[in-house]
Amino acid sequence: MSEKAVILKRGKEESLQRFHPWIFSGAIQRIEGKPEEGDIVTVYTNESKFIARGHIQVGSIAVRVLTFEDEPITDEFWYRRIETAYHLRTSIGVAQNPINDTYRLVHGEGDNLPGLVIDIYGDTAVMQAHSVGMHVNREIIARAVKATIGDSLKNIYYKSDTTLPYKADIDKGNGYLLGGNAGNISTEYGLKFHIDWLRGQKTGFFVDQRENRSLLEKYAKGRKVLNMFCYTGGFSIYALRGGAELVHSVDSSAKAIELTNANVAINYPEDLRHAAYAEDAFDYLERMGNNYNLIILDPPAFAKHRDSLRNALIGYRRLNAKAFEKIQPGGILFTFSCSQVVSKENFRTAVFTAAAIAKRKVRILHQLTQPADHPVNIYHPEGEYLKGLVLYVE
Ligand code: SAH
Repeated sequence: MSEKAVILKRGKEESLQRFHPWIFSGAIQRIEGKPEEGDIVTVYTNESKFIARGHIQVGSIAVRVLTFEDEPITDEFWYRRIETAYHLRTSIGVAQNPINDTYRLVHGEGDNLPGLVIDIYGDTAVMQAHSVGMHVNREIIARAVKATIGDSLKNIYYKSDTTLPYKADIDKGNGYLLGGNAGNISTEYGLKFHIDWLRGQKTGFFVDQRENRSLLEKYAKGRKVLNMFCYTGGFSIYALRGGAELVHSVDSSAKAIELTNANVAINYPEDLRHAAYAEDAFDYLERMGNNYNLIILDPPAFAKHRDSLRNALIGYRRLNAKAFEKIQPGGILFTFSCSQVVSKENFRTAVFTAAAIAKRKVRILHQLTQPADHPVNIYHPEGEYLKGLVLYVE
C-alpha cells in the first residue's frame, strides 16, 4: 500500500458496512503515506479489505466518506455527483421551475458530498465548504456545477471563511470562482428576494424554510401575524400574499430588518399592512400586547453542541411559553428548532411544557421538517436538523 491510506482497528468497519459516512479518529489503527488534511485517502479494514474512500481531516471525525465503491475520485466523479444532485432538484420541481429559482443544489451528506453546501439564487450559486477536502476540490466542483446547470448559471461565489475548521492553515479567501457581476434578486415560489451572499448569514438566505413558508401562506388570510426572528422576512412576505390583515417582523439585527423591508418593498410596495422592528425577541414578546393570532418563532440554533443542550431546551421552553401566553384564542403558532443536537422528542417536550406553563389547550396541526432539496441520507440520520410544529391554540 504505497497510497495514502487509513487502516481501521479490528471490527471498526461495522458502521461503514451500514454506509455511515463518518470515520471517527478512535476507529483508526494507523495512517500510511503521510496524508495532509483534505487529501483523499483509501480506507481499509484491519484485514486489508477496501471499505471506503474519502477526505481526511483533523478532529474527531477523521474521514468523511465520498464513496463506498473502489473507484478513483476523478473529475468525472465530481461531475457525476453534481449531476445526480441537480437531477433530484429538477425531478422534485424546485429547479427548472418558472416560478422558483431558489433552492439547495447540494446538501452535504444528504447528497453523498459530506462537507459541501451549494445554494442556487437565480443565476448565482453560493458554495460553502465545511471541510478542507471540499475546499481543496472547490475549483473542480465549480466547473462541475457550471457544466451541469449550463448557460443560466453566471456566477459562483465561494464563501467558506466561517465554515472551514478555524485551525486549518489555508487561505480561505471568499470570492467568485465564476463571473462576479451579480444582480442579486432570486425568486421563491413567485416571490422576489434580495439575497446578500456577501454580508448575509450562511449563504445569504434560509432556503430550508421554503415549504414551511408556503404552508404558512395558507393560514394567513385575515390574521394578525407576528414573524419573530424574521431575518430576510421570508415568512412575512408569504403572509402578505396569503392575505394577512397585518404583519409585524421582528429581529435583533438591524441589517435583517433592512433586508426585510427591502424584500417587502419589491413584492408589496407601499403596503401598509407591514411593519418591522429591530428588537430582542424576549423584550418584544414581553412588551407586546395579545393581539396576534398567527405567530412564527424561528430562532437561531440555541444549541450548537451537545453540552449546551440543556440550556437550549430551557430557551425553547421560555420562548414558546411567552408565545402561548400572548397568542389570541384560536391562534396558530408555527414554532421551529434548527439545532441539530435537539431531537424531535426534545423539542416537542420543550414546546409541550411551555403550553402547560401557559395553561393553554393546544393541538398539533402539522409536524414539519426540512424540504426535499435538503434530503437526509438514510444512513446518516444526523442530517435531519430542522423541526417544526404548527399548533392550534384554543
Ligand atoms: N425565519 C428566517 C430565518 C431566521 S434565522 C427565515 O425564514 O429566513 C434567525 C434570526 O434570529 C437571525 O436573523 C438573527 O439575527 C435573529 N436573532 C438572533 N437572536 C435574536 C434575539 N435574541 N432576538 C431577536 N432576533 C434574534
